Amino acid sequence: MSNPAGAKPRILTGDTPTGRLHLGHWVGSLENRVALQDQYECFFIIANAHAFTTRAEKPDEIRQSVLEIATDYLAAGIDPEKSTIFIQSEIPAIAELTFFFSMLVPYNRLMRNPTLKDEIRDKALGDGYSFGFLLYPVGQIADILAFRPKLVPVGEDQLAHLELTREVARRFDQLYCGVNPQTPDGEYVAAGGLFPIIEAKLGRVKRLVGTGGPGPSGQLLKMSKSLNNAIYLSDDPDTINKKVMNMYTDPNRKKATDPGTVENNPLWIFHETFNTDRQWVEEAEEKYRLGQIGDVPCKRRLVEVLVALIEPIRKRRLELEKDPGHVLKVLQTGTTRARAVAHETLQLAKKCLKQDYL
Ligand code: ATP
Ligand code: MG
Repeated sequence: MSNPAGAKPRILTGDTPTGRLHLGHWVGSLENRVALQDQYECFFIIANAHAFTTRAEKPDEIRQSVLEIATDYLAAGIDPEKSTIFIQSEIPAIAELTFFFSMLVPYNRLMRNPTLKDEIRDKALGDGYSFGFLLYPVGQIADILAFRPKLVPVGEDQLAHLELTREVARRFDQLYCGVNPQTPDGEYVAAGGLFPIIEAKLGRVKRLVGTGGPGPSGQLLKMSKSLNNAIYLSDDPDTINKKVMNMYTDPNRKKATDPGTVENNPLWIFHETFNTDRQWVEEAEEKYRLGQIGDVPCKRRLVEVLVALIEPIRKRRLELEKDPGHVLKVLQTGTTRARAVAHETLQLAKKCLKQDYL
């Protein structure tokens, strides 16, 4: 159950069940997860407790999203024979570790966290957010460290949280396991630490933008379940067509003969990310700059590219939807496995904390 020498290194990552998975998840993390399943022992958390940070009044929706995300994982190619998919709130050790870790995070350090600030701004949370919202990065540290992974594949927005995770792991190991602060990050466990100093693994696109244009900061918003600007891995061709046809492009371009701007234009960001026909993209970008091609043919082409990527996933999803019992079984098996691993970590942590009484 622990991760003995010679065993595959571990991955821990996951998603908040606030909707279904979208293209941002695919390029930011999911694609890596599918690819790394053979080399790593993978744990994928569905962070349902964290969904309550912004949707406490919608438990039905959160419940539905847990099942949607698990279905998306399987449809996207996560193999439950190789990887463990589990539900956060069913792992009591995570909640217990959160409490101990919260003592190792200075309050001001948490409040300066840029990801929290961006979320407060972009999700228009104002000043009405809950105490639990501020607590979630600490909960995320426990989600991760409960599995003592080597690698955490995420999008760029998560890097600030992962830095906090690294700080807490170092502090815990130094304070409670006697690790010398001069120890290089990669050697903490060999030096007697309980927690490895995890590494982030960014996807081939660190932050995919959404279809909806700039947010309050003037910058293009990231594609996000909460911002109504996402193309989902479960969208049918008609929906993809509508979303692409209505997507934000160059706002100053009124007709096809106006010169267009390619930079910071979601149409071209999407082509560059998903269209493997590099020659077509380069030529079309040049024509777009010169006002020799309209938005519509470029959008049509993008629809074809996205449908080709999403349609096989959607079809597998339709099959899975016919058998909800299978998805529940995967969650049950995964959660049982994850609970045992996290419980073992908690016992070891309590020992280091000298709070192993009974
Ligand atoms: P929410 O709107 O509820 O915050 P989200 O769309 O941001 O949802 P999360 O569940 O918060 O999705 O993120 C899950 C993982 O996917 C994280 O590793 C995150 O960095 C990554 N991710 C999410 N959106 C993008 C994106 N647009 N580009 C790249 N990676 C992304
Ligand atoms: Mg998010």
